[in-house]
Amino acid sequence: MPPTLESEEHKALRAAVSALGTRHGRTYDREALWSEAAKLGYLGVNLPEEYGGGGGGIAELSIVLEELGAAGCPLLMMVVSPAICGTVIARFGTEEQKREWLPGLADGTRTMAFGITEPDAGSNSHRITTTARRDPDTGDWLLTGRKVFISGVDIADATLIVGRTADARTGSLKPCLFIVPRDAEGFHRRQIDMELAAAEKQFELTLDDVRLPADALVGDEDAGLLQLFAGLNPERVMTAAFAIGMGRYALARAVEYARERTVWKAPIGAHQAIAHPLAQAHIDLELARLMMQKAAYLYDAGDDVGAGEAANMAKYAAGEACVKAVDQAVHTLGGNGFTREFGLASLITAARVSRIAPVSREMILNYVSHQTLGLPKSY
Ligand SMILES: Cc1cc2nc3c(=O)[nH]c(=O)nc-3n(C[C@H](O)[C@H](O)[C@H](O)COP(=O)(O)OP(=O)(O)OC[C@H]3O[C@@H](n4cnc5c(N)ncnc54)[C@H](O)[C@@H]3O)c2cc1C
Repeated sequence: MPPTLESEEHKALRAAVSALGTRHGRTYDREALWSEAAKLGYLGVNLPEEYGGGGGGIAELSIVLEELGAAGCPLLMMVVSPAICGTVIARFGTEEQKREWLPGLADGTRTMAFGITEPDAGSNSHRITTTARRDPDTGDWLLTGRKVFISGVDIADATLIVGRTADARTGSLKPCLFIVPRDAEGFHRRQIDMELAAAEKQFELTLDDVRLPADALVGDEDAGLLQLFAGLNPERVMTAAFAIGMGRYALARAVEYARERTVWKAPIGAHQAIAHPLAQAHIDLELARLMMQKAAYLYDAGDDVGAGEAANMAKYAAGEACVKAVDQAVHTLGGNGFTREFGLASLITAARVSRIAPVSREMILNYVSHQTLGLPKSY
């Protein structure tokens, strides 16, 4: 990143993705945008070149998602498919797994969802109970458990499921990652009725003795948290990109409106009560982007530990900035903030997701108080 904060290539990527996003706009067709973005190489920009990717990193992938969001057409599955699943397979998968999955994830013809959250564990992922046991006769894995709020399982060819092996049923989490095909026997999904206006849906999953071949396990069953966080840190950076994009989109609509809308002598944007909160929202989004760039830079440079802290902070800052920007945008439009024509009110709900998922604001504050500041752990 420094000395020049963003390279000429990054600026060109930003401009090109922005043009694509602007063509699709707020009323975008998710599938059409996904396949066009994929054809242009944007969805696999972080994946290794030898498997059909762009050879870049999370820095480039986050630029793509931020710019699509800023144009009003974010692709949520980018957070999980190329960023988590693609990264984990590229870093820890076998040669066979890489050949099987990476070219499809890179060219967007295949998608992979990601499932860690469980109803009885929630933020405490150490409590997950999805369990994998070996069939001693065949060497197959048998996976049993429940997941909740998993995005895009219906449109994904498979879901990367986080479980634990039977002999690691209790104690601190030693997560194992399994590729579960969408139509695997015993893999059931139920759509959750969310109050969210989004193209991607969330699902509750039941894994009922799902039989998987030995090579469904990605990476080492003993590698534990290291492997998991190789995927979760990019997820946090990408959620920050998602939030910053949405915040920028809402802010731009509010600024346009405030420049034109005149109910007294001057446009409403001339009143500091309207202008200053918009300026603050812009500053907060810019600051969050700086932290996101730092996190992406550290991750791409191979500093997993440094990236972990920065990715948490970036996700926190971006979630807060997004919520404030959207709230102020809706307010700026007065009654029009609630009309379908302007389409901003539904973003209030969508923006709040970036405060909760994939790790909540409070869990990040817990992490920073404990890990960064050395304060006693409260939980
Ligand atoms: C739209 C959407 C999409 C999602 N997509 C996915 C997906 O694709 N894959 C996936 O695996 N998950 C997904 N999730 C799940 C998401 O990651 C979880 O909702 C999130 O991790 C919080 O878990 P929970 O909902 O169980 O909340 P809980 O853990 O029950 O937390 C509830 C509240 O309590 C607070 N809290 C909990 N513990 C503490 C503590 N120790 N100190 C202070 N406060 C605390 C939390 O901050 C939160 O405000 C998605 C969620 C949403 C809303």
